[in-house]
Amino acid sequence: MKIDLRSDTVTVPDSGMLEAMMTAKVGDDVFGEDETVHALEHKLAALFNMEAGLFCPSGTMTNQIAIKCFTKPMDEVICDQGSHVYRYERGGIAYHSMASVRLVNGIRGILTPELIEPEINEENIHYPNSSLVVLENTVNKGGGACYNLAQIEPIHTLCNIKEIKLHLDGARIFNALTATGDHALAYGQYFDGISVCLSKGLGAPVGSVLLGSKETIREAIKIRKAFGGGMRQAGFLAAAGIYALDHNIPKLAQDHKHAKALGDALSKVSYVCSVLPVETNIVVFELANGIRPETVVHHLAESGVLCNATGPKTVRMVTHLNISEEMIDRAIENIIHLHLSAHK
Ligand SMILES: *Cc1c(COP(=O)(O)O)cnc(C)c1O
Repeated sequence: MKIDLRSDTVTVPDSGMLEAMMTAKVGDDVFGEDETVHALEHKLAALFNMEAGLFCPSGTMTNQIAIKCFTKPMDEVICDQGSHVYRYERGGIAYHSMASVRLVNGIRGILTPELIEPEINEENIHYPNSSLVVLENTVNKGGGACYNLAQIEPIHTLCNIKEIKLHLDGARIFNALTATGDHALAYGQYFDGISVCLSKGLGAPVGSVLLGSKETIREAIKIRKAFGGGMRQAGFLAAAGIYALDHNIPKLAQDHKHAKALGDALSKVSYVCSVLPVETNIVVFELANGIRPETVVHHLAESGVLCNATGPKTVRMVTHLNISEEMIDRAIENIIHLHLSAHK
């Protein structure tokens, strides 16, 4: 039995999702004629109290389109040093938007108005124009740490005063909502753009949706076209997204429970020196001195447990829809029975 904890992107559609895809009504979405894509876009926009949505092939694309919508060349984007938009999108901010990046050292990737404000440039001929703040919820690099709305509100207020746009990389926003108990509807008032990923914990095979005002999405459609992201009978994929929203959100709580159990087990073995607090479905742990992440990943893989080295001393495990309780029990057994000592 392979227990694949490398990422929540490894899920495969179940029969119900496949059925929904097979029977989707489709059309040419570049002509604006795919009713299933429209249904998905409207459904998510309504859920987050935003005016409009745009279905895209990836979360990288929704983020990069948003950044391009909200900046001009020579502007500066403020984000956490570990943020996906900065670290894992191939330098896309520079490439697509010709903007610079101002990095903030968040607390496990969580930013506060106090951390953001000093990084906002005043009007000055020498300085780039600070035009956008990007938050990530949950924070991937922060071990799945999440913001609640009470933390987001004052950041929104600051951005409003400074006339700066606020974008949310919500690749795992439903994990955050599950953990905090906040309502999706309340999000719309705080953000100019929201990226929502369907192919992570929700279990759809492909796709993310960018949410924004009608005006933002009108611009975003043009940028998506230029990025080569206009898709034709995309309704087959959108149907999987609708199915995921209808069926898989309540299952995220189980993923969180599983992640906590993994975190508890890891905190008890001698080859682990610390585990980041487990808030959602991501477990990041630091290894004891002298133990290399590759060694742990290798030995666990031999016992059927797949995970990732994410830094010189850290390993990450991610729970998801295709991980059962039985798999977690087995993974925990293997974690406990692995015996590693330094310099081995
Ligand atoms: C996965 C992820 C994305 C988008 O990734 P794609 O693979 O391009 O869909 C964006 N932000 C975060 C935090 C992610 O974890």
